[in-house]
Amino acid sequence: MQLIDGKSTAQAIKEEIAAEVSTLVGQGKKRPHLAAVLVGHDGGSETYVAYKIKDCEQVGFKSSLVRYEDDVTEEELLDRIAALNADSDLDGFIVQLPLPAHISEQKIIEAIDPAKDVDGFHPVNVGKTVIGLPSFVSATPYGIVELIKRYSIETSGKNCVIVGRSNIVGRPLSVLMSQKAINATVTVAHSRTKNLKEVCASADILIAALGFPEFIKEDMVKEGAVVIDVGTTRVESSETKSGFRLKGDVDFEKVAPKCSFITPVPGGVGPMTRVSLLLNTLKAAKNR
Ligand code: NAP
Repeated sequence: MQLIDGKSTAQAIKEEIAAEVSTLVGQGKKRPHLAAVLVGHDGGSETYVAYKIKDCEQVGFKSSLVRYEDDVTEEELLDRIAALNADSDLDGFIVQLPLPAHISEQKIIEAIDPAKDVDGFHPVNVGKTVIGLPSFVSATPYGIVELIKRYSIETSGKNCVIVGRSNIVGRPLSVLMSQKAINATVTVAHSRTKNLKEVCASADILIAALGFPEFIKEDMVKEGAVVIDVGTTRVESSETKSGFRLKGDVDFEKVAPKCSFITPVPGGVGPMTRVSLLLNTLKAAKNR
């Protein structure tokens, strides 16, 4: 069994990005610039945005934080998005989700210029991804595919089962895994899937993205399978200072001995999601 180390892979990619930024700046070009829009004070969102700003610093990007209180109106937010779209210094921006219930997330996503949509959530980017055109691919699927490539995992003709069909993980990942560059035969499983155990056990590559800690047990995994664990659920723990730890969707201790490759949680998909936003921002800057 080989552990897929997302943390060190993400670090290596950050170093590659930092080197590219140095070259761009050395050629007299401007530093890539990412902005994050944060509404309210949700603890998770605050943490994610803080990481994004820190990641930018580490690779030499310029970053900006645009903050609003929970009571911002949809109209105010749409006006700000129009201004960010028009800001010629800005290469890309993200609006951290979730938003308060009085704001339509879909309306906000669709207001972002697809050329600056480095989260890859705009329907234009999703549509381009589906038909294999250059696009911004959302961070988690992008990071997973990058991990698979960097570990030279054989995908052609392999059965890939993805458990979960969300718009940010399972669905776009199913599209990427079936594309000609990857050539897997893809099954997307979800909460209505019958015989899930047998479906999972048929997978050469099993990707768990459902959000239930340790849901994937050893009898659901084929001997020699590649297992990618996307799940991150905060559970109480007496072993950490914070009183919490992150758990994946896979029962790692029992499943790992059966696998050819497996990602840990934490340290697998998570760091790759973070670095993918940087890759998209670099691409946005180079596109302009
Ligand atoms: P989501 O929007 O809640 O979607 C969960 C999916 O799992 C749904 O499609 C659901 O099916 C399916 N599902 C739920 N229970 C199931 C069951 N018992 N059997 C089979 N399928 C089931 O979740 P998400 O946003 O995709 O996130 C999934 C997990 O990944 C979460 O733990 C999240 O925190 C984590 N995540 C991690 C990263 C990272 O960077 N590491 C990034 C994004 C998400 P239905 O469609 O039928 O409801």
